[in-house]
This record gives sequence, C-alpha cells and structure tokens, in this order.
Amino acid sequence: MKNRPLAHIFKGFTAITCVVAGGLLPGALTAQTPSANSSTPGYRNAGNSLPLLGDSSAVASAEERRLGDRIARELFRDPDYLDDPVLADYVQGVWQPLLVAARQRGELTPELDERFAWQILLGRDRTVNAFALPGGYLGINLGLLGVVSSRDELASVLGHELSHVTQRHISRLIAKDSAQTPWMIGAMILGALAASKNPDAGNALLVGGQALAAQSQLNFSRDMEREADRVGFGVMTQAGFEAQGFVTMFDKLQQAARLNDSGGYAYLRSHPLTTERIADMQSRLPLGAPHPVARAPLMHHAMMATRAKVLSNPGVDALRVWQTQADDASLGNAPAAQQAGILYGAALAALQLRDVALARHNLARLQTLAATDAKSAEPLRWLDAEINLAARDLTPAQRFDLATRLGLTAAPTPPLASLRRPQLMLQTQLALQLNQPALLNAQTQTLQTWLTVQPQDALTWQALARLYAAQNQTLRALRADAEAQAARLDYTGALDRLRAAQDMMRASEVGGSVADHIDASIIDTRQRQIEALVKQQVLSP
Ligand SMILES: [Zn+2]
Repeated sequence: MKNRPLAHIFKGFTAITCVVAGGLLPGALTAQTPSANSSTPGYRNAGNSLPLLGDSSAVASAEERRLGDRIARELFRDPDYLDDPVLADYVQGVWQPLLVAARQRGELTPELDERFAWQILLGRDRTVNAFALPGGYLGINLGLLGVVSSRDELASVLGHELSHVTQRHISRLIAKDSAQTPWMIGAMILGALAASKNPDAGNALLVGGQALAAQSQLNFSRDMEREADRVGFGVMTQAGFEAQGFVTMFDKLQQAARLNDSGGYAYLRSHPLTTERIADMQSRLPLGAPHPVARAPLMHHAMMATRAKVLSNPGVDALRVWQTQADDASLGNAPAAQQAGILYGAALAALQLRDVALARHNLARLQTLAATDAKSAEPLRWLDAEINLAARDLTPAQRFDLATRLGLTAAPTPPLASLRRPQLMLQTQLALQLNQPALLNAQTQTLQTWLTVQPQDALTWQALARLYAAQNQTLRALRADAEAQAARLDYTGALDRLRAAQDMMRASEVGGSVADHIDASIIDTRQRQIEALVKQQVLSP
C-alpha cells in the first residue's frame, strides 16, 4: 500500500477526537482511575447513573456546537472523508430509528435536538473506530462497518456514542477544567490536526506537552462508559434492534482485546473494556439465558460490510483478492450471505479497476444467488446502475431500461418519502448522460424538493449544480455550488461562488425577467448571510 500523506487527518483525527472522546493515546487507560470524577464537585457517583448537571457545570450546548462545527469543518476537507450514498443510506437506516427512540425516551431533549448537528461523517480509514464529537457529530470509520455482522451490532455502537452526546459527557469533560476554554481545546485539536497533515511531524506532536496535558483531563470516566452502555442499550432496544447485537459486539471487542489487536481496534482504546462494563453487560441478559451467539449475517448486510472493505482498501492488490475469492471453487459451499458479500466485493472491485466486463460477470452471478432475497433487490439495483453508468456503453434502448429501473422519468419523482438518496444520485448521473431537456428539468425539480427537506445535503447541492450547468443556468449553478460549500461549513468557499455570481449579474445585466430578479435577490440575501458567518468565524478566538 502506498502512503497517502494527505489522507492522514481522519486517522490523526481519530487519535485527537479520542482526546475528547475518551483517550486513545498510550497511557490513557492506566491514567484513568475509577474515582477520577468523584473528587470534582457535581460529579458524585450516584450509583448506576451520573447526576444530570445544569449549564453551570457543563459547557452550554451552543458553545459545544460551535466547537463541533469547527472540528467538523476540518473533517469535511479531509481526503479520507467519504460521502458514499450507499453506505451513508445504510448507516442512516440504523441511526434515524435510534434518534427517534432517544427522543421518545427523553434522552434526546428538544433543546439538544434543535441545537446539535446529529450528523454522521464517514471516514475511509480501515481502523475499527467510531467516535462522538462535540456538538452532535459522530465519526465512523469504514473499518468499523467492515467488521460488524448485523444492523443490531452497528446499532449498539451508535447507541453508545449517541448516549455520550445526549448525556452531555463531552460538555462535562470540556467544562471540567475552567483553565481550558472550549476554544483553547478546539485550537489544540486543530493544531494537532494540522500536525497530523504533515508526514514529517509524525505523531510526535500529538503526544507532546499540551495535547497530553489536555488529554489526561478529557478521558471519559468509567462511570460515563457504563452510563453510555446502559442508556445506549435502552435506546437501541427501544428502536427495535435485537439486544443480542449489543452482546455479540461486546464479544467481538473482547476477543480483539484478548488478541491484543488494539492497533486495528482503536475503538477499544477509546472505550476500554473494564471488568465493570463486562459485568454490567452480563447483568443485562435474562437470568439463565444462554449467551447469545452472533446470528449468521444477512445477504444485504454482508454486501454493505464488503462495500466498506472495498472502499477503505483501494489498492490494486487488495482489489484483486476479491476476484480470487469469487473464483475459488469452494465458494459455493460457503453460507449464502458470505457468497453474496464476496461476489458484491468482486463486482465493486472490478468496477474500481475499470474492468466493466468482469464487474458485470460478478453482478450476474450475484443476481442469480440473491434473486429471491427481497432486501437485496435495492442494493443490487444500485450496483447495476453504478456499473452501467461507469461503462457508458449502453445503447439508447438499454439506457431507457435503466432509467425505468431507477424511476427516472420526465415527471419529477414522486413521492419523496419513497425516494432513497443513492437512487437520487444515480438518477442524476443518468439524466446528465442522457442530456435531454425534459429529464434534466424533471430531475432538477426532484432535487430541489429533496433539498427543502435536507438543506444540509452537500452532495445533492453538488448534483443540482451539475444539472443547472448542463441547462446553461450558470447563476443557479454557482448558487447551488455555494450551498454545497456552506453545507460543509466552508463559508469562505461559499462566499467566493456567490460573489462570482454577483459579478456575473452585474456584467451581463440579464435581469430582465421576474425569474432573474428572484435569482438575483436569493443570491444577494445568501451573500449577506454567509458573509456574516465568515465574520463570525474570523472573530472567534
Ligand atoms: Zn464510550
């Protein structure tokens, strides 16, 4: 594997966030003492649960959100940041029910619900890790998606991280030392982030003075870990996930800990498995119940885990291994889900290697294998579209068929509730390839409607910008591009594009029609709003 010096931030960031999210650096585990919190006023150990603190001893949610935004902005710029619509859709399918359950249980208060981002950022890193950030952002490495065997296991990890946020653990950690303002902590995190970008600096700066000093204050306590387990367990079971997912995920982590594989399982270092946590876990199983064993993964799940593995390990040699496995004569003896995972991986890997014929061959085998599995239909349809769109060799009739399969017609796609984001992105790609005015126009309307509900969806703003550009609507394309930058919190980038649009309006003096006036007015308004946000960023210490 070649080194990708620029692609280290996500990795570096993992290390740093664990400063906030629980202590990844060597020595963090031994530095932790069970009574670390009991000496601090307001942190009395009240049996099984921590006392809820008022804003006097916790960092106010607005302040925590600003810190989170500042960190997230850097993460969005990281080359390892990945918005893969298929994996993101899969993760959202677990995440949204958890949020609903947390609201129902009162863990997620209306105030936090409104104030925080509740956004998940995927990172290409192969390290097994997930981490909570300030302000309701969560990071998940593809490495973690590659090792979970079910949605239930993923729900147990996400439920735990969600609970660190809703229980205000992060705000309490930040508030613990009044000498460190949140902005100093943010600056420290960003400084270490910048250092991790520079391969020459290595990790030396991460363990250097200030980072280490802050880190020793920013470990989650054992009580916090147990509380996140307890609350997370309640949330994930209320959301309808199987409790056994929590247990089998624990087993998996315990096994990794025994094998001393903590290098690959960074999650273990930020969430150490103490004897208390394991005992708590066992007490959640009904008395006398047999210890749950991991269920055989489902085909659909195996495909998503494989997708995470392929996208996080894009080296040519690693990609070729998938085909070797797919061609192995003994593959037919493996469980169906495992076969499906391998064939999906081989098809996707062949696509990455630009071998369309081989990708189609693997896909055809997979379609036969999964023909009767209803849940596999959608991911297979998306993979089929991905391959055909990349191939660009379809006849007009085949393109028409593909449009039908993706639901792309000259009428905007109704109703939005039934629309999935991967489908939306694939439809857009196909509309751009077909380049017919009626289709481009219909797809533009579909995306606009989507964005009224999901205004923070940067990828869809980008897709909309391309659709406008294809229809020679340059002003609108610039504005959509600006919104994509703003959604990733790059306000300076957004402002650049809005100013370019204003320059263009002045130069061409096109503003004759009502539509032009509306566009011009929207662009001016957004320019003023975003300029204010840029000023705020500059003024922030
Ligand atoms: Zn934790």
